[in-house]
Amino acid sequence: MEQKSYYHSVMLEKDKCKGCTTCLKHCPTEAIRVYGGCAHIIKERCIDCGACIQYCAYHAKVAVNEPMDKMAQFKIKVALPAPTLYGQFKGLKDVSRLLDALIAIGFDDVFEVARGAEYVSKEIKKRIDNRHVHNGMPLISSACPAIVRLIQVRFPELLDNVVDVISPMEAAALAARKRVCQNMSAAPEDVGIFFISPCPAKMTEARAPQSIKKSNVDGVISIMEIYGKLNNAMKDCRHFDHLQNAGSIGVGWAQTGGEMLAVGVENSLAVDGIENVIQALESIEDGDLSDLQYFEGLACVGGCLGGPLTFENPYVAKNRLRKLTENMPKMQEHVKNLDEPELTDEELRTTVLLQPNATLQLDNNFSVALQKMEQVETILRHLPGLDCGSCGSPSCRALAEDVVDGFAVEMDCIFKLKAELHRMSRLMVDISEKTRV
Ligand code: SF4
Ligand code: SF4
Repeated sequence: MEQKSYYHSVMLEKDKCKGCTTCLKHCPTEAIRVYGGCAHIIKERCIDCGACIQYCAYHAKVAVNEPMDKMAQFKIKVALPAPTLYGQFKGLKDVSRLLDALIAIGFDDVFEVARGAEYVSKEIKKRIDNRHVHNGMPLISSACPAIVRLIQVRFPELLDNVVDVISPMEAAALAARKRVCQNMSAAPEDVGIFFISPCPAKMTEARAPQSIKKSNVDGVISIMEIYGKLNNAMKDCRHFDHLQNAGSIGVGWAQTGGEMLAVGVENSLAVDGIENVIQALESIEDGDLSDLQYFEGLACVGGCLGGPLTFENPYVAKNRLRKLTENMPKMQEHVKNLDEPELTDEELRTTVLLQPNATLQLDNNFSVALQKMEQVETILRHLPGLDCGSCGSPSCRALAEDVVDGFAVEMDCIFKLKAELHRMSRLMVDISEKTRV
């Protein structure tokens, strides 16, 4: 049988972990267990939402960064800044200054992901306008890879509603490579495209895409990592090359509701924060949001501005973006020297059907799963139902499932252990009293 491989970008630095169980309580897919005094991630379940990075007070959870040295492997290096990057710098009045700083630190060209978002917005609008059969559920945005993975793990029946348009990052990467090959007569393999990312989920999207065969992105660098270099480079930037090719519509995608606004469909809903999105997806599944045409779900509070690999507080960054976009045109269609290639409808379409990820099921075989379910229910009846996480599993049900799967024992429950120790000590007292001479 073909073994499916799972890739994820959030890792544990063991020596920093205190086994406090905080991360375990915030993981939306129950992907974390704590045993032996240390957290462990079940990679098949991790959707790279980054919640554990944000909640770990000991900085034991980290995203796997691409070393910047990887740039040296390519003759021509292109930076793909996420629009979130624009909100990170105090006093930035002109996006061109930041884009120039990217050239100053070693890139040969820059293509804004916000411009990719503009291509994608138009394509999504077409999908909504041409949707003749409405199955009682809205089309769902594919922009947040953590939410797409969440749907694969927890809401597989909604997968058909995820819009079949590539992400702004992929659209930008495709257009950037085309432009460089055309303008600099370069071979595609000589061009290295580097996305500057606000979150680990987008890192995974570039390394192991779910809805296209191969990503056009060659490397991912976190905003955290590049922030200091850019800040310094901006101080020395004396002239602007006017590399900006996106308008406020594309830049707005960085925050919650930005995509909804860019797509321009009135009957749509934007929700952020993983728990809120889970509730909204449950409502969609139950048919409670059947009047909606489009749903934008973002794992992080504030949207990508709240990504775990960003530098600035999301509300401060949001305010900066508001000021930066005030005088921007909606789209830069009319910008001088906009010598960029068009992307066809075909190129903007996803090429691989999203598959469910059934790792939350007890077994692939239905009758075995049923048997296991009965065992789980039996064990569960004898657990306290407090979902305290002290056993190292995120809930009493998760502990029961872990016991059935052979990864834990019932006595991992501290309440059961305490009761058992109490029973044994009583027994020993009884025995010693009976045997006293
Ligand atoms: S939050 Fe998780 S990773 Fe961080 S110290 Fe606690 S158990 Fe370890
Ligand atoms: S990144 Fe999200 S899904 Fe993955 S282990 Fe951390 S909290 Fe869980």
